[in-house]
Amino acid sequence: MRIAFVGLGNMGGGMAANLVKAGHEVAAFDLSTDAIGRAVAAGCDAARSAADAVGGAAAVVTMLPAGTHVAAVYADAVFGAAAEDTLLLDCSTIDVATAKAVAADAAARGQSMVDAPVSGGIAAANAGTLTFMVGGTSDAFVRAQPILAAMGKAVLHAGAAGAGQAAKICNNLLLGASMVATAEAFVLAGKLGLDAQTFFDISSKASGQCWSMTSYCPVPGPVPASPANRNYDGGFASALMLKDLKLAVEAAQAVGAAVPMGAQAEALYQIFVGLGGAAKDFSAVTKLLDGSWSAG
Ligand code: NAD
Repeated sequence: MRIAFVGLGNMGGGMAANLVKAGHEVAAFDLSTDAIGRAVAAGCDAARSAADAVGGAAAVVTMLPAGTHVAAVYADAVFGAAAEDTLLLDCSTIDVATAKAVAADAAARGQSMVDAPVSGGIAAANAGTLTFMVGGTSDAFVRAQPILAAMGKAVLHAGAAGAGQAAKICNNLLLGASMVATAEAFVLAGKLGLDAQTFFDISSKASGQCWSMTSYCPVPGPVPASPANRNYDGGFASALMLKDLKLAVEAAQAVGAAVPMGAQAEALYQIFVGLGGAAKDFSAVTKLLDGSWSAG
């Protein structure tokens, strides 16, 4: 299948390469010529513009920073150049309102679109092990499934247009708030004289157990693979967690949902990012809480 891929950054580069590995012909475009060069080295064809990539493609995949980029790329390049039966897949993490609006514009033109944000970071994008949360009609989901499966390990239908983004930001609101709570618990345990490993051994088998503790433990030691053991480098950047928490809090305001824990987590990550923590894994918020954080 000929697939247009627009947005070849940290995530999109590996995803486009995996479409090539699955046997697709990929026409790739990014504003960065370096990014296009890397995509060509991975077997993609360089396009001169987003519209050039989209012309003649059976499907379009976009992986862009935020809602403003997605709305502009679809309005300026994708809608005009795509055929009516071209399937449109936006894998970026964006606000629910923009996702719904762009999908409605696509539907008005008779084009099928899904929002398909991902869980999993750069390593999962490169390895083809992302999880996709998909919003769109059942027909569009069925068409999108094999394309997304070439880039991931799980493809889940969340509901109608925008539901993929809703699932993504609700999941990450829970993740951000649970990480802050887990970090707080370890910091308090330490100040109360409890050894981190001892607290882990107890709480991970008691009702405090959660993913932030057992897979991504925010202090070094108990979970050897967690970013805390490598100075919080790699993993899921605090700047991206802040972005997702902002999207969740904005979405909550739009529908009148109370998210006090999510809002508090957003405020804490805002402080941490402001103090230079943007690139550190989001579990590094522990260092803000225990007072040991200093940037650099
Ligand atoms: P990135 O900034 O590395 O890549 C975005 C790319 O889009 C850049 O190469 C940029 O040049 C390109 N771009 C911007 N505007 C463009 C335009 N008008 N036309 C063509 N190209 C354009 O970002 P990323 O880390 O790859 O993230 C992409 C999306 O995936 C974001 O929405 C992010 O929230 C989401 N996400 C990222 C991660 C992660 O770990 N990095 C994990 C899950 C989801």
